Amino acid sequence: MQTSHFAPRNFLPETIDLTDTAKLAPVFDQLEAQLDRAASAADLEAWLRNHSEVCAALAESSSLTYIAMTCQTDDPEREKAYLHIVEVVDPWLKPRQFALMRKLAQSPFFSQLPPFYGVYRRSVETQVRIYREENVSRETEVAKLAQQYQKISGAMTVRFDGQEQTLARMGRIQEEPDRPRREAAWKAVAERRLQDAEKLEELFDQLLGLRNAIAHAAGFPDFRAYTFANYERFDYTPEDCLRFHEAIEHHVVPLTRELQEERRRKLGLDRLRPWDLAVDPDQNPPLHPFAESSELLEKCQQIFGKLDPRLGDYYNVLRKQELVDLDNRKGKAPGGYQSTLSEARVPFIFMNAVGVHRDVETMLHEAGHAFHALAARALPLHAYRSAPIEFCEVASMGMELLAAPHLGAFYSKQDAKRARRDHLEGIIKFFPWMATVDAFQHWIYTHPGHSRAERAARWLSLMDRFGGAEDWSGFEQARAHVWHRQLHIFEIPFYYVEYGIAQLGALQLWQASRRDLPAALDHYLAGLSLGGSRPLPELFRTSGLAFDFTDQTIAPLMGKVKDALLELAA
Ligand SMILES: [Zn+2]
Repeated sequence: MQTSHFAPRNFLPETIDLTDTAKLAPVFDQLEAQLDRAASAADLEAWLRNHSEVCAALAESSSLTYIAMTCQTDDPEREKAYLHIVEVVDPWLKPRQFALMRKLAQSPFFSQLPPFYGVYRRSVETQVRIYREENVSRETEVAKLAQQYQKISGAMTVRFDGQEQTLARMGRIQEEPDRPRREAAWKAVAERRLQDAEKLEELFDQLLGLRNAIAHAAGFPDFRAYTFANYERFDYTPEDCLRFHEAIEHHVVPLTRELQEERRRKLGLDRLRPWDLAVDPDQNPPLHPFAESSELLEKCQQIFGKLDPRLGDYYNVLRKQELVDLDNRKGKAPGGYQSTLSEARVPFIFMNAVGVHRDVETMLHEAGHAFHALAARALPLHAYRSAPIEFCEVASMGMELLAAPHLGAFYSKQDAKRARRDHLEGIIKFFPWMATVDAFQHWIYTHPGHSRAERAARWLSLMDRFGGAEDWSGFEQARAHVWHRQLHIFEIPFYYVEYGIAQLGALQLWQASRRDLPAALDHYLAGLSLGGSRPLPELFRTSGLAFDFTDQTIAPLMGKVKDALLELAA
């Protein structure tokens, strides 16, 4: 990594140890005193610049520690440094930061800040309004229970192929052509999950009780209303989400069922069973896009350069400053992510490339997030240099779609078509599942006191409404508990619909690029450059996209996806 600060520090000492709370205390004392002294809106603006500088430095320190740890999880020093941030620095910072926010909101000059600070002001006011001292211990309890969920699910293994297997590894068997083997693997996993079903129901009931208590203490009628405020969803309501579910039911579910019917026909089956849903219906071997991660980097450079020289330049920053760690190796944390070094104001991409198509998708996706960080880097307020998830994922999911026509850099014509088809099918299939998970939570948190049987019945009715036509007979218990697999329901309630909202933006961007690519890219970059400085509808509008999740947007988009799938099948 070769980075330097984007702007010189004006407030924070250059050499301060940002992981030492004894050194941080005087910095926060000083920020508090300066806030007390503020005698005009201009003073507050000056204060915000200092505070922003401190926030950026702290965020970068935390990101660097996290990156170091995930790049080598078997190094005890790195683990220790990371745990120090989580267990010592963050818990110390939270109340100090909140005290500053409260003071800021109470300042008589707060409402006189220029319009530029409108979005920030709205966010601070909300945080202060919903904060309750008594909820802090409840939240700690929730976090502990959520960790229990991870522990219970992480400990699930089955014996298969003569050895103990994780469920993630078992999932891969679902892509193999041997049907009896898929069936046996699927059944083994379903049985294993059911063993812990009661434990998870019990855990969820505890979470439910705590969450309802948090909402009531903060003065909200239910946890849904509380969460919409807590997530700062200023620009859409629960009712909008319910309408979104309906639009998916009417315009996406029929398409997913058509695709399933095609799958059934291709596989030559009378009826699909739950273990027939992940295998390639044409029985093709997996795609093999590259051998070395250097090749992945090089070919993506070509793709982005071809798409737009500005994107090519952005991508080159990652390469030149060595802001990537791509290869899978022993000791590295799983998965992929993009992180931002907030003081250097540059992105970092982490992944575990092994030469499969998923790696290409991950790179294109994370590159979209990286472009977002670079496009917004000149904004003066740290809080504005990142955007709400509903728009962040437009940057990344949109980039997957914009780059798709250039997959020829990795594949033959035939394989590129297959990759694009799989991608579009995956997008379509996501919507009904998202609606199922989201609608379930809307019901749960607006029906306090429901019984477990009522909860299961509700889930099953949603599976009927949004699910496929595969035959579950003989596995009714497993079907009633499928939601236990979705960690969001346990750990980050109501957090999932964001991906659906963003995907609609991404699909609109894709359509715009087919009409006029240079104009679509101009809009895309203009939207990204706003960071989080404007409300969601404006971020969408600037990018040339409608912030709308009704039939009006979804119906025509699904028509286009269907056309594209037919084109790619030809
Ligand atoms: Zn993402």
